[in-house]
Amino acid sequence: MPYCRRKCAYCDFYSLGGEMPGAEYTGAVIRNIRAYGESYDTVYFGGGTPSLLSSGQVYDILCAADIAEGAEISAEINPESADIEKLSGFFSAGINRISFGVQSLCDRELNALGRLHDAKTAEAAIKNAHKAGFENISADLMLGIPCQDESSVKSSIERLCASGVNHISAYILKIEEGTPLSLNKELTESCADPDKAADLYELTVNELQGHGLFQYEISNFAQKGRECRHNLKYWQCGEYIGIGPSAHSLYKGKRFSVPRDIHGFIEADRQKEIVTDDTPCSLSERIMLALRLSEGFELSQAGSMADRIIKKAAPLEKYGLLTIKDGRIALTVKGFLVSNEIICRLTD
Ligand code: SF4
Repeated sequence: MPYCRRKCAYCDFYSLGGEMPGAEYTGAVIRNIRAYGESYDTVYFGGGTPSLLSSGQVYDILCAADIAEGAEISAEINPESADIEKLSGFFSAGINRISFGVQSLCDRELNALGRLHDAKTAEAAIKNAHKAGFENISADLMLGIPCQDESSVKSSIERLCASGVNHISAYILKIEEGTPLSLNKELTESCADPDKAADLYELTVNELQGHGLFQYEISNFAQKGRECRHNLKYWQCGEYIGIGPSAHSLYKGKRFSVPRDIHGFIEADRQKEIVTDDTPCSLSERIMLALRLSEGFELSQAGSMADRIIKKAAPLEKYGLLTIKDGRIALTVKGFLVSNEIICRLTD
């Protein structure tokens, strides 16, 4: 849903700031859902800001899809657009999981990111979600924000957990070239350097665990049973269809993306699919994706390559970067921090 009320200072996602999704846009989404004609056990409204949709628009989109009984239906919601009417409307329309773009519960940090909400608004939004009937509630937490320190991360985590979220996605801020944040020297200089960001990440893993949110993926933490079923598909090489400009898919044995062109998307009968990989899910890719998960990679899937992989992994186990046990290789928290390097070494 590539619309946002205003662009955040660090964002390089494809989204139009200051515009609202109209009937032409939802019409194009519905046309594409019908054209694929699949049935779904998870649905994810991602953004941009899906909470700019009305509940009627969400309902129309969901009605166009064949959705299985008990499906997980998530929507990303920005706190400033999450009053009780909106959340109750989304719940009645069929959404049963909310992911709030909170990022921090420190106003100074939210300001530096150019977010539209403050901490009070975010906490009120989570409260409203409970009142509206949601049981699956996630929040994004950003690490390495300008001026952030250990105590503010701890305080954000404590307040988020006290508010009753049962899933947190914690990401280290990446300064993307060309964004307003990247051009603000004062702010970029006060962002955490890689060592500091690593400390904040380790602190986050420990704090969340202390609050009963266990790490199941590099950036994702949940109470048992509250893991995001939709996102797990990405790391398990499951198929999914992405609809909308800049959406990505793994479908019928191909990876493809849709051009970052909203007008082209609205005007076309069917979205354009640019194939980026027609032989996806190679062994290397499956290892790379599985190692993002705490459960790691099941060695039996590597067949005759398993011994070679174990040989490469053994020295890294000595450094505490991964474990090899019960037929699986899994990265440790320290390993997650240098996951790209480890994955390169195991798969080259
Ligand atoms: S709300 Fe999300 S998608 Fe929209 S500008 Fe901010 S970070 Fe980007």
